[in-house]
Amino acid sequence: MKLFIYNGTVVNANGSEKTDVLIEDSIITKIGIDIVEPDDCKKINADGLLVIPGGIDPHTHLEMPMGDLRTADGFENGGRAALSGGTTTIIDFVNPVRGQSFLHTFDQWLERAQKATCNYSFHVTVTWFDQSVADEMRILAEEKGVNSFKHFTTYRDTIMLDPDSMLQSFEQVKELGCLCTVHAENDEIITFLQRKLLSQGITHPRGHVLSRPPIAEGEATHRVIAIAKVVEVPLYIVHLSCADALRAVVSAQQKGQEVYAESLCGHLLLDESVYFAKEREVAARYVMTPPYRTQEHRDALWDGLASGAIQTTASDNCTFTQENRNRGLDDFTKIPNGSPGIEDRMRIIWDQGVRTNKLTPEQFVAVTSTNAAKIFNIYPRKGLIAPGADADIVLWAPTKQHRVSAQTHLHAIDYSVFEGFTFTGTPLLTILNGEIVFENSEVTARPGQGQYIQRPQF
Ligand SMILES: [Zn+2]
Repeated sequence: MKLFIYNGTVVNANGSEKTDVLIEDSIITKIGIDIVEPDDCKKINADGLLVIPGGIDPHTHLEMPMGDLRTADGFENGGRAALSGGTTTIIDFVNPVRGQSFLHTFDQWLERAQKATCNYSFHVTVTWFDQSVADEMRILAEEKGVNSFKHFTTYRDTIMLDPDSMLQSFEQVKELGCLCTVHAENDEIITFLQRKLLSQGITHPRGHVLSRPPIAEGEATHRVIAIAKVVEVPLYIVHLSCADALRAVVSAQQKGQEVYAESLCGHLLLDESVYFAKEREVAARYVMTPPYRTQEHRDALWDGLASGAIQTTASDNCTFTQENRNRGLDDFTKIPNGSPGIEDRMRIIWDQGVRTNKLTPEQFVAVTSTNAAKIFNIYPRKGLIAPGADADIVLWAPTKQHRVSAQTHLHAIDYSVFEGFTFTGTPLLTILNGEIVFENSEVTARPGQGQYIQRPQF
């Protein structure tokens, strides 16, 4: 299959130019204005459109088991949602249950992802640690294409790692030439506040945001930065949501420490007032961790993206049905956490970032694709339009509008936290591994068309 994209403006993180692109099989083979296109290629007129690297969403949870529940979006429909929004690669999470083999769990996830419609890769969560875990981490890094391991400082009953184990895991990650990622919130503060709120009779979903204040996130972020500093391992803070945590990151970066931060499209858009909706069923839809914050914190996140202190944007796509959420209507601590976003992430960043002049189109490409490719070591194979790179490409219509509705979205849930928003800037066409998979508002990707992306050690 050969594709020739002409008349468009190619936008990479390091610059833009009006030029043409030739794709042969799954690789970009030529860029230029003097390409003689082969006879047997399909020609795509990109007049008025931006030709950008396919988005990389470095944080998703598709078909993730949680207790007796499972996230609603799977690798098939979730991948389609991603492609329709301009994302061609996701990095999902393998979460071993404590005591369970990491390799066994990794194989389970890989099996579920066989039907993926977009490209995928995996972080592995370190939920417990001993020598057998250390050995399996080595196999994951050396043979399975995993170069990032996640750690939790909260959720004590399930996946939180105790501080001693965290130090040991960080050291093993460093030894393997991999990257530590962390979900940073102070578990003791949160548990204390949850008990206090419930004892005061506050069971409404607003208890979720009241029990997870920015200071709890700021403290834990500061703490894991210190641990990473001692071990001298690169650190990536997932879903950084507030000014408190960003201050800790910026301070470390200024001292030369290798610390990266990720922001979520939801945190960049929504306000904490959503938790105060009178109707509990509505408020419960927004429960995710960390919670949505106030304008002050959103402003800090946008400043961080613009300055480069925050490098990536993700969705943390983790969808639960209304029925699942209703389990916690009388106790906010029992509401399953998570939000959609895999479909609308790039539209939100363009609409709220580029349209409002907070980011340039090149910065948009950097924070939606290129930086994630670099940090997770798949650059320049991904995140760049250049000869030799994989042909994951999006034709972006910068002024076309898209209205979000649960009636039309590709998520497997019957509501949307972005319901009614109209975003300016949306994909017209998406190319995955050299094949058109989204065109004329329709996703045509087949189950299994997504490829597993191995990420080498550093
Ligand atoms: Zn997550």
